[in-house]
Amino acid sequence: MTAPTFDCPACGSAWAADRPRWRCDCGSYLNLTPGDGLTRGQIAGGEASLWRYAAALALRGPPRVSLGEGWTPLVRRDWQGAAVLFKLESQMPTGSFKDRGSAVMINHLIKAGVGPIHEDSSGNAGSSIATYAAVAGIPCRIYVPATAPRAKLVQIAASGAEVRAIPGTRQSITEAALAAAGESFYASHNWHPYFIEGTKTLAFELWEQLGFRTPDNILVPTGYGSNILGLDRGFDELEKAGETHARPRLFAVQAANCAALAAAWVAGADRFVPFAATPTVADGIATMRPVRTAEVLRALRRSRGGVTTVAEEEIAPALAALGRLGLFVEPTAATAGAALTRLLRDGTISPGQTTVVVLTGHGLKAAERIGDLLGIA
Ligand SMILES: [Zn+2]
Repeated sequence: MTAPTFDCPACGSAWAADRPRWRCDCGSYLNLTPGDGLTRGQIAGGEASLWRYAAALALRGPPRVSLGEGWTPLVRRDWQGAAVLFKLESQMPTGSFKDRGSAVMINHLIKAGVGPIHEDSSGNAGSSIATYAAVAGIPCRIYVPATAPRAKLVQIAASGAEVRAIPGTRQSITEAALAAAGESFYASHNWHPYFIEGTKTLAFELWEQLGFRTPDNILVPTGYGSNILGLDRGFDELEKAGETHARPRLFAVQAANCAALAAAWVAGADRFVPFAATPTVADGIATMRPVRTAEVLRALRRSRGGVTTVAEEEIAPALAALGRLGLFVEPTAATAGAALTRLLRDGTISPGQTTVVVLTGHGLKAAERIGDLLGIA
């Protein structure tokens, strides 16, 4: 593999990727050079984690830290008469899909010789990064919304990280973290290119678990879009290696109350457009300003998928239906079930197609809120 670089889409600069860096000097986010791809012969079949795809990751040498992340179950269930595959990213070590990105990013940062780190998160990324930082012995501080579910705050604090609760919108928490970038390294799951390098293993895993075939449709609860970008990157690399020519349609699912990507999509825009937001129970995807909006929109268009929004009143029934299928997930993840109902009903997805619904976070992270939503005393 050629030495990876961080490439700036705004000014064209390229930076060595073996040093701690989270953005370009011009202020833009950076993208990691595209990888060479993955062939089925390169898979380390005895490794029951995402490290079975280590040959296709832009890291030198084996990982220093791992909690066995990845290789999550893909289970078939009936959803209103359609056979659907649910990808249980909720069964990661910290209970959310974020562990793919965190594990790869933290291993990169160890090799790059990073010192103390900080991050901002609505909860899941914070607990994931705090956990991997703890395993790596890296001091960590997480900025969180004061309104984040208590279970997520407890999970972050239990790893030994410092928790800073910030009042206000999700954007004000990000601004607090940006302001701290002079004090410690900003290990942001929304900014750092290596986080997406980790989420791309979701594409590899789905392809392998389906017998080296790509699904027709993938539905993903989406805030900043790291799973959409990871899937796009992963399927790109499989195509580059000659392993597949079929691209799944990617559907980003957002809560209608806070839908930055949907606003741009409906406007036919190729970048962020201003929009109005109100609170949603899907706290994990309540994003005001996705860093890579343009790239997420491009990935969705290229896949011939789209953005689907769901109303607040659709989320609880989806949560209840998933629960009865043995799939106890947080309200954010249940938006994908609600979107599936919509897309089956309007014919965008047909029951005969291979459809994957990515369940991003475990129900135990938001058990009290789920109890309220489902009227459980
Ligand atoms: Zn730049």
